[in-house]
Amino acid sequence: MTTAADRLDAGLLTRLATLVTAAPGRPRQSSRAPFDGSPVGEVPTCTADDVREAQRRARAAQAEWAARPVADRCRVALRFCDLVVQRRNELMDVLQVETGKARVSAFEEVVDVARSAGYAARSAARHLRSERRRGALPGLTRPVVHRRPKGLVGVVSPWDTPMALAVSDAVPALLGGNGVVLKPDAQTPFSALAAVDLLVRAGLPRELLGVVTGRGSVLGAPLVDGVDHLVFTGSTATGRTVAERCGRRLVSCSAELGGKNPMLVLADADLDRAVEGAVRGCFSNGGQLCMHLERLYVEDAVYDRFVPALAERTRRIRLGGGFGWDAEMGSLANRAQFDVVTRHVADAVAAGARVLAGGRPRPDLGPLFHEPTLLEGVGGDVPVAREETFGPVATVTRVRDADEAVRRANDTPYGLNASVWSTPRRGAAVAAGIRAGTVNVNEGYAAAWASHDAPMGGMGDSGLGRRHGREGILAVTEAQTVAVQRGLPLGPLPGMPLDRYARVMTAALRLLRRVPVA
Ligand code: NAD
Repeated sequence: MTTAADRLDAGLLTRLATLVTAAPGRPRQSSRAPFDGSPVGEVPTCTADDVREAQRRARAAQAEWAARPVADRCRVALRFCDLVVQRRNELMDVLQVETGKARVSAFEEVVDVARSAGYAARSAARHLRSERRRGALPGLTRPVVHRRPKGLVGVVSPWDTPMALAVSDAVPALLGGNGVVLKPDAQTPFSALAAVDLLVRAGLPRELLGVVTGRGSVLGAPLVDGVDHLVFTGSTATGRTVAERCGRRLVSCSAELGGKNPMLVLADADLDRAVEGAVRGCFSNGGQLCMHLERLYVEDAVYDRFVPALAERTRRIRLGGGFGWDAEMGSLANRAQFDVVTRHVADAVAAGARVLAGGRPRPDLGPLFHEPTLLEGVGGDVPVAREETFGPVATVTRVRDADEAVRRANDTPYGLNASVWSTPRRGAAVAAGIRAGTVNVNEGYAAAWASHDAPMGGMGDSGLGRRHGREGILAVTEAQTVAVQRGLPLGPLPGMPLDRYARVMTAALRLLRRVPVA
């Protein structure tokens, strides 16, 4: 019988595994394909020594790489984009085998890989350009701000979008002149390795981007202890641990963490579009996206039209495994995630919630399939009301007006993403009151996520720092100000009495006070 893992060429997996930095003889580990539980290839179980070796090699390669003109570095990323487009089918296969997502979700992830690397390649030179700033004495002091690489950047990525989140952070770090050591999630090493392989084929020096595979709890500490900046994507709990460790070393980090993202449907929304937007926002990638929507607040005036239409559409979502294009939603990615989803639904139902759509596992399709689920009448103290489910489960709640919708949207320690459905102008005004790093108006998450020129990240328990845009590239650099002083010194002239110097300076301060603020 053919298994899901058989979809991948064994020779390809063996070759990809050689990209991992591991001493010979390390034990091997394999993860399971969510569609049917079949074992997927094998990668080494790395140790702390392997992490240090990957760091040593990447640091050794970094100086030569940083000395190359930015345009040269960017050309590698552009060639990588071309390869991603050419090899998209193979990349989608790897993603589907490791995560169980539907073909369409794998396609969207591959598109994101190409677009985010393409954005970084086209904009890095502009963002990294040295800038003249205003000097202490106009005309005499000339400060220029340069962007120096941090040196070595660690990237820790999760399993939900395992190719995009490995590469979208590694590529800007590389273009900023850094070396990188990447630790993908243990469930999805090949999704990251397949992208790393294409970067190397595109001309990236092999040692500059090291990959270590194994458990985060073993590899996390040595990784943090040997880098100059860390980009972490994962749960809030692990993010705190990692950020604390970075703090002790005084190295910077960005932490892209969890969410409990709200969707607000206001009375003047286009309801047909809002229904489709909710389906994509709640159930794309099986609800296993950090930006996906889990809490829907619907204004009273449209509740009785919107919610039945959404329930009906949710019941029609095509659920299925396999490598064709017919399924809209695939499997959950792992047993732990499946257990959270079933527990959140069961607890809510036991506490009196009504199931408007879905609500059940689907073992007939595979061990980890679960129906897209809509719950109504969920009380405030059950887990699904407050904790991130990170699965295909959304709650719907009736609210009096937009003010109540905003108040309830903000009633969470998280602040990653939000979605507002209304007229464009009112939606943008309502967005200003929402505490979230991204707010999508008349879209679920994709408008903000796919705007690669704009920063993306979380407020509150959803994280620190931003990826994408100028902010994402500058975060992996150090600003260095070089100020050249000509002519007069910034102090008393030689031989000038100090009281006279103080009088001149005081007069100058009064004069400067009249200069308009730029
Ligand atoms: P997780 O925190 O368990 O794991 C994430 C990564 O951290 C994995 O690679 C894991 O091996 C590693 N890790 C585990 N322990 C570590 C340690 N002590 N030190 C260093 N690394 C360690 O998260 P998960 O459950 O695998 O991922 C899902 C979570 O990620 C969800 O909460 C989701 O919202 C979040 N997420 C956030 C974003 C974002 O951009 N904000 C994107 C995707 C996923």
